[in-house]
Amino acid sequence: MYKDLQSVPKAYNEPVRNYAPGSPERASLKAMLAKMKSEKIEVPMVIGGERVKSENRVPINPPHDHQQVLGHFYKSDAGHVTMAIEAALKAAKAWADLPRQERAAIFLKAADLISGPYRDVINAATMLGQSKTVYQAEIDAAAEMADFFRFNVQYMVEIFAQQPGSDKTTWNRIEYRPLEGFVYALTPFNFTSIAGNLPSAPAMMGNVVVWKCSNTQTYSAKVLMDVFEEAGVPDGVINLIFPSGPVGGKVIMEHPDFAGFHFTGSTGVFQQIWKTIGTNIATYKTYPRIVGETGGKDFILAHKTAKVDEVVTGLVRGAFEFQGQKCSAASRAYIPSNLWPEIKEKLIEQVEGIKMGDPEDFTNFMCAIIDEASFDKLAMFIDNAKADAEAEIIAGGQHDKTKGYFIRPTVIVTTDPRYITMEEELFGPVLTIYVYEADKWEEALELVDTTSIYALTGAIFSHDRYATDQGTKYLLQAAGNFYINDKPTGAVVGQQPFGGARASGTNDKAGSYLNMVRWTSPRTIKENFLTPTDYRYPFMDEE
Ligand code: NAD
Repeated sequence: MYKDLQSVPKAYNEPVRNYAPGSPERASLKAMLAKMKSEKIEVPMVIGGERVKSENRVPINPPHDHQQVLGHFYKSDAGHVTMAIEAALKAAKAWADLPRQERAAIFLKAADLISGPYRDVINAATMLGQSKTVYQAEIDAAAEMADFFRFNVQYMVEIFAQQPGSDKTTWNRIEYRPLEGFVYALTPFNFTSIAGNLPSAPAMMGNVVVWKCSNTQTYSAKVLMDVFEEAGVPDGVINLIFPSGPVGGKVIMEHPDFAGFHFTGSTGVFQQIWKTIGTNIATYKTYPRIVGETGGKDFILAHKTAKVDEVVTGLVRGAFEFQGQKCSAASRAYIPSNLWPEIKEKLIEQVEGIKMGDPEDFTNFMCAIIDEASFDKLAMFIDNAKADAEAEIIAGGQHDKTKGYFIRPTVIVTTDPRYITMEEELFGPVLTIYVYEADKWEEALELVDTTSIYALTGAIFSHDRYATDQGTKYLLQAAGNFYINDKPTGAVVGQQPFGGARASGTNDKAGSYLNMVRWTSPRTIKENFLTPTDYRYPFMDEE
């Protein structure tokens, strides 16, 4: 173990607060929500530690009340992207030279800030800006963000401790250098913690970062930048900009010092950027590291021995929490015919009973869809299903964007196991179910494995150990996060490292050393204490 890091505090999962009526945390968060709604927040870019504004001021609207204005962010143009790259490169040497215990201390402090004095602010920003319920905000923006910081420090320590053996008269060692250049972090709207992890994980390993967040996550991104600054991340190490995707991508991907890409978002965007990197490959000084976690078409497969209430709870929570806008959300389910009548009845009752609305009303289980484009796409799939002969909507199906982008949790039952909503990622509160003959378990396994291009999360519910074993083996490549008798969402840092393969990403497992190790470019050093002084070997001597 490296001496300077021997005493780093052991990582732990941040306890999740429950915000029950009468609790102090509930009162304090409600006060923060009221305060933040009454103000208009300014969200400038942060380049080299400077707050930078442009002429292009864009309103930040809550998805559940889109006429309201929470504040404004400032759109970046190509010039700002270049400025951010230059600021990052300027900061690179000093940051790489800073002893790693200093970097560890910065991010341990960030964890304590986010779970302490910034907890209400980051939760309220996530609730108002991204339309999360209090619980969904708490497990993401406060708890998971703190977990990423604390556990990544521990993984960094473990990586640095990996050293080669040495022989007599030599000393071998590995120096864990940052990548040579800058890392581009391109982040999605749906998790504040992922948005914070994508720039901070490479930064912790000594890299400098240009970070572009989603237009619909700028409010909580601003809070994260405030935390980074207060925790002691030096100017220029993490630079936040708001260009449109293609504008940012063009400047970044054509830069010779582009050394790493840390992405979470949709599969199409990732594949397009990978192609651009391939086209520009001769431009770069070093082969860029490409880490991307992308889409999913996550499944729940119930065996005929599953327990009805367990399956129904897994379906409702797995499919509809945060309006189904989790990459891990269950969006296709395979239910055996023997359990279907009872599951159907309970599922309809529970789904129709779901309360939906403004996140400030803590009795709501669901809030609004992130933006109009997403709303329109989901409404189209739902309306098509109403007209399609092979689909029947048994719960939900209503949508209304008058005040906010609200879509009722919707359950489609299809007679075609390859119906479009069984295959395509819709990213919303739409669950499609196929009922299979209870004795055709193996056929169901084959369907689950081959129906979609994705392989992110999946769950089987079974109380037959042979079936569980068979399903676990058969679905080996069908999910990077596989659950037995549990919903396929809610991975916890340090417990279920997260990521999938096939079209779901490079499976570098956020929240594990496997991700952190991508952000270092090791140098091996061999030192010889008895350096040879004659090129001839003994075998060359005369008899
Ligand atoms: P998105 O792909 O639309 O956007 C991701 C980021 O890329 C945003 O910052 C966006 O502005 C930018 N972008 C969009 N189009 C671009 C383009 N043409 N060029 C360059 N940049 C561009 O994704 P989203 O809607 O923010 O997030 C939802 C998606 O993310 C879903 O597909 C979901 O499955 C996926 N996701 C995956 C994981 C995972 O761990 N696998 C986690 C969260 C989200």
